Amino acid sequence: MARVYNFSAGPSCLPEAVLKRAAAEMLDCNGSGQSVMEMSHRSKEYQAIFDNCEALIREMMNIPENYEVLFLQGGASSQFAMVPMNLMNKNNKADFVITGQWANKAYQEASRYGTANVIASSKDKTFSYIPKLDSATFSKDADYFHICMNNTIYGTTYKTLPDTGDVPLVADISSCILSEPIDVSKFGVLYAGAQKNLAPAGLTLVIIRKDLIGNAMDKTPTMFNYKTHSENGSMFNTPPCYTIYVAGLVLEWIKKEIGGLDKMKEINEKKANLIYNFLDNSKMFKGTVVAADRSLMNIPFVTGNDELDSKFVSEAKKAGFINLKGHRSVGGMRASIYNAMPVEGVEKLVAFMSEFEKQNG
Ligand SMILES: *Cc1c(COP(=O)(O)O)cnc(C)c1O
Repeated sequence: MARVYNFSAGPSCLPEAVLKRAAAEMLDCNGSGQSVMEMSHRSKEYQAIFDNCEALIREMMNIPENYEVLFLQGGASSQFAMVPMNLMNKNNKADFVITGQWANKAYQEASRYGTANVIASSKDKTFSYIPKLDSATFSKDADYFHICMNNTIYGTTYKTLPDTGDVPLVADISSCILSEPIDVSKFGVLYAGAQKNLAPAGLTLVIIRKDLIGNAMDKTPTMFNYKTHSENGSMFNTPPCYTIYVAGLVLEWIKKEIGGLDKMKEINEKKANLIYNFLDNSKMFKGTVVAADRSLMNIPFVTGNDELDSKFVSEAKKAGFINLKGHRSVGGMRASIYNAMPVEGVEKLVAFMSEFEKQNG
């Protein structure tokens, strides 16, 4: 069986070791005689799987005791509404930095519930950089300050965090969760759809400082209230059981095979540098992002010629490198190299790009 190298932005590749283990446990997980898919979420067997996943995420991300980890559904997109409904509760106001489509969606959704201020934007240059932020321009009375930490579509990432003082910093970390260590204590809320770097689609992880729970707007639907889920161990209703199980396997892989997030970061830097170094020296391909703000996870690049871009994407596909087409709003190419993409896959892609340049240059 030939597996492809999948550079999709999401859903994306999973570690092969995780897929093999899930396959081996498909019919009988831990001697239970059942697949995890078939277990009651109220069973002892399933609770052990759930608790193991939460313990591992706490350990790997070094999550302080005063933070709750919630296993929700609805995608990162639901958090665009859930965050304001729960946090815009004192002055009905929040600040936003617009660094791309997802950041903008978070802003637009929040503006339906209160005053949403745009502090800065990089729209003027197709979101190819992270705007310099000056804390003097932030709203002192904002209920929270929102950023999209890693901009999946445009390939930029924050290397330093805005200093928001006492205003809780909220970050969408959908496409960089677990890619490197992060100081959770600097944030009020972190959230991520699982399908980029954690698990298959269906799970949305929320890490929230406990004091921010319990002040939702009255009109907040029960299912959109963080309190509902924190009071019920994320089992107010049926959680995405199987996806949580796979997230646990991915976390075990990070812990045991990789050796934690410091090690994960080293590997991710090695992979990203292979591509960025090639792009910086290529006469055909070039990266689209300001060097200082480059993402470790998503690398957009172009040839400057639409026909050549299409030819590259289609020849790459034939050679087993799939999903390299850029986002429909940007064009060109994008290589998403999440945790599960092996170094070897990136080395082979770079060799392929180099050969393509020779043949078509
Ligand atoms: C993919 C992505 C989203 C959307 O996630 P869903 O789970 O599909 O709602 C939001 N933000 C970022 C940064 C993303 O990469």
